Amino acid sequence: MNVIKEREKSSLLRGMEALHNRVELLPKDDSYYSSLKSGYEGEKIFDRKIMDAINNEAVYISDLLLNINGKSAQIDAILITASCLYVFEVKNYYGEYKFSGVEFANLNGYVIVSPLDQLNRSLTILTQLLKQWNVQIPVDGKVVCINPSFTLFTEDPPENIILPTQLDTFLKKMNSQSKPMTSSSRILGKRLLTMNQQEVPFQKQLPPYEYVQLRKGVKCPQCNNFNVVLTQRSCRCLTCKKQIAIQLAILYAIDEYKLLYPRKKMTTRDLFYWMGGEVSKYKISNTLETHYKKVGRSKDRHYE
Ligand SMILES: [Zn+2]
Repeated sequence: MNVIKEREKSSLLRGMEALHNRVELLPKDDSYYSSLKSGYEGEKIFDRKIMDAINNEAVYISDLLLNINGKSAQIDAILITASCLYVFEVKNYYGEYKFSGVEFANLNGYVIVSPLDQLNRSLTILTQLLKQWNVQIPVDGKVVCINPSFTLFTEDPPENIILPTQLDTFLKKMNSQSKPMTSSSRILGKRLLTMNQQEVPFQKQLPPYEYVQLRKGVKCPQCNNFNVVLTQRSCRCLTCKKQIAIQLAILYAIDEYKLLYPRKKMTTRDLFYWMGGEVSKYKISNTLETHYKKVGRSKDRHYE
């Protein structure tokens, strides 16, 4: 399988991650963060599953943001085979839900945005685009519920929802049905990629934050906790037990600073305070020298 666009964390998720543990988030912001995070994790699991399952030639695009004729759609994944273009809406729901034929609700009656509506929106926009391009390929869309703990109660199971227990069989079937790839499918993949839109500015979507209120220090890049032991060379996390080179932990801290303060000039001194004084200025300036561009002289020196 040819992956022409790999999945990356959105800037919004990275920004929320940078705030998480640095500031007490309001319950609504905290649950928004959790939903972004679990959505991303579910999509990564789907990527791995589909890559393992499809051994015939196919083009895979993860996370495509389309904006056609003023309408936009965020498509979690697209798989183009010689015979079909599949659109996937991946959901990491867990627990028990019921589907009335129209609405999805949890057992307490709380109605969620219908994933089928989201899928249909993506399909409409994509079909429109293919029509504009005069490309004729069957298009099929599925909502994939990836979390094994998800159960859906319904009298009328919608055929375009793949439940966790059906996913392996579905992927196997899709693999066995795919035919040898044509160049037009490859070209279509590349063409779709050129339509990918930049993310909307994410800073405005973050909850408000003040520099003085944010907890300073070095976090573990793997689990986003401050619970780390730093030595001259390494950063060891007491929560997830991951050990990495100190430079990687410094780069992670710099990255978070840049996300939250994109307009501030980065100086060794400011980053020293940002890392809670836990890393020497010498190490910070060394890392900056290696990975960023030096601008200005002596007092005015900063990095971009
Ligand atoms: Zn950790």
